[in-house]
Amino acid sequence: MTTEPRILSANKRVALVAHDNKKDELLEWALTNKQKLAKHKLYATGTTGKILEEALGQYITRFLSGPLGGDQQIGAMIAEGKLDIMIFFWDPMEAQPHDPDVKALLRLAAVYNLPMACNSATADFLFSSQFINEEYAAVQTDYSIYLKRTFPALDKSTRHEEEGKA
Ligand code: PGA
Repeated sequence: MTTEPRILSANKRVALVAHDNKKDELLEWALTNKQKLAKHKLYATGTTGKILEEALGQYITRFLSGPLGGDQQIGAMIAEGKLDIMIFFWDPMEAQPHDPDVKALLRLAAVYNLPMACNSATADFLFSSQFINEEYAAVQTDYSIYLKRTFPALDKSTRHEEEGKA
């Protein structure tokens, strides 16, 4: 079941994150796609943002460094509907001190059907899509049934309250 789609405007809010072993790869990809990125508003975790801002000469809103809470800040932006796209080059060959945060970030992108690229090939496809510079309606899963779930103890206390009033 779906609910109202989330509208991504033509100018996207793009988050960029790369683990240390993937920073060179992201930098190379970003330089190749400099003109395309210039049309959008960029966000990044601390160190990734510093490297990219210098290389691209484009302002980037920087959060804390990933392991110090930056991943969670980006996750919060997704949950609040303040991000449209995430380019997240995570390292599949090395465990990270903040692995739970990494998993949480990937999970939230899935929860909100956020376009996400975890490697340069997918990032290429994303940025070659007609939707990158157009408005796009992202289908949203309807979580209202989950939000309306009931709890036996709560039902009981409501019943007691009603019996008290009678
Ligand atoms: P960093 O964080 O850009 O501050 O290095 C990346 C990450 O590991 O999430």
